Amino acid sequence: MAAHPSVLVTGASTGIGAAYAARFARRGHDLVLVARNTARMKALAARLREATGVAIEIVTADLTQPADLAAVEARLREDVRIGILINNAGTAIGGSFIEQGTEDVARLLALNTTAVLRLASAIAPRLAQAGEGAIVNIGSVVGIAPEFGMTVYGATKAFVLFLSQGLSLELGPKGVYVQAVLPAATRTEIWGHVGADVDAMAGVMDVNELVDAAMIGFDRREAVTIPPLPDVEQWNAFQVARQAMLPNTRQEHAAARYRTAD
Ligand code: NAP
Repeated sequence: MAAHPSVLVTGASTGIGAAYAARFARRGHDLVLVARNTARMKALAARLREATGVAIEIVTADLTQPADLAAVEARLREDVRIGILINNAGTAIGGSFIEQGTEDVARLLALNTTAVLRLASAIAPRLAQAGEGAIVNIGSVVGIAPEFGMTVYGATKAFVLFLSQGLSLELGPKGVYVQAVLPAATRTEIWGHVGADVDAMAGVMDVNELVDAAMIGFDRREAVTIPPLPDVEQWNAFQVARQAMLPNTRQEHAAARYRTAD
């Protein structure tokens, strides 16, 4: 693989994905930008080509549509120049679970989980075969926080975290780096999609600062990067507590509290 492999970024038309595109272009990587809004990607590509001289291709795709998704999968399978996948496209919907329509939550799942999974599945065998490359999956701290009340969105992000941690264990030894990035509230258009006024919210991170921090985690080959978390030992203690519980689940009999007297 080249010293600067091409990077395919999903959700590259705005927000976190556009910021990733700018970072990798500045580092000298050619790009494949994927999203629905062609005009926005063209404008971004023109700016980045002018500033960096890298080659940028635009793929217009709605990743909730099987045919569009399959085309991007094929590209990831076949194009040996692509060595890094930024699995970023994602969205959120407002309302409580009983207010959200079944079709709307199904579409949310299609984008936030199925597309992420299928794109990783398309590129992973080729990267493992090459013994190099990287898959970056954009999760969210909501994925570890059912208390936040964004149930379906959080469930999709819990999937992204678990998938990333599992893939990191499976693919890491084969030379493929897998990173889960867990932003908290970040100033992008996603908040408009859930009907929230991001300017009225406290503790919102600038998108460039978020991606710069995530890139430092990328360079350090962190498995999980949580840019806003001040004390990484809190995350580490969470993992240690989880791992300490696991050996106790291998039991022939139910726990004493579930045993009947007779
Ligand atoms: P954003 O500004 O709304 O951008 C979302 C991107 O995804 C856009 O480029 C959008 O482009 C693309 N997209 C949406 N639906 C798509 C579809 N059906 N097919 C293909 N592309 C689609 O949101 P963002 O905040 O940058 O979100 C990026 C990722 O970060 C998401 O996975 C999100 O869950 C995660 N995240 C965000 C925050 C936050 O506070 N902002 C926090 C934690 C995690 P088109 O509309 O052109 O398709």
